[in-house]
Amino acid sequence: MAALVMVFSPLPRLRGLLQRCWGRLERGFLPGFAGDQSPPWGPALAVQAPAFLPEPASDARESNETPSLLDSILWMAAPKKRRTIEVNRCRRRNPNKLIKVKRNIDVCPECGNLKQKHVLCGYCYAKVKAETRLIRMEIRKKEEGPFNTPTVETVVLYDGEEPTENDKGKRIIERARKRPSWFVQN
Ligand code: ZN
Repeated sequence: MAALVMVFSPLPRLRGLLQRCWGRLERGFLPGFAGDQSPPWGPALAVQAPAFLPEPASDARESNETPSLLDSILWMAAPKKRRTIEVNRCRRRNPNKLIKVKRNIDVCPECGNLKQKHVLCGYCYAKVKAETRLIRMEIRKKEEGPFNTPTVETVVLYDGEEPTENDKGKRIIERARKRPSWFVQN
């Protein structure tokens, strides 16, 4: 028999099973080997395992030495004591965690809405944004196509306004509405 069985498995149950199979194979094949049958063969099995794993002393204790499922679980950190509701509320209602009261609120000089100091008024910004969008739609309607920024200045004329002497040669966009109060004409 040129077979080699190396069992380093840490599982005693698997080791016992292999030994039993090996014994059965030997008993079954040796008579055939004596009577000049086919060339002898046997199972070759090598189980690789770390060498530092201790070999079980005997198979008699295999029932209580079987590694349980819980040994292979990576345990995470968990709190050991429950925190009381008072401690939790003190942490949650800590003044550092509460929303601060803003004292830099001011009145917008244009529209009268409240706004933060040193911050653009949201209402006025929305108005300017909407009017800019309409002006851009007017430009697209007039020039047809993608926006080609001309080198000349653009003048927006509202209802009842005529281009002045200074506006000659500039791009003139007309809007069919009254000029808004915040859009000054220069
Ligand atoms: Zn405003």
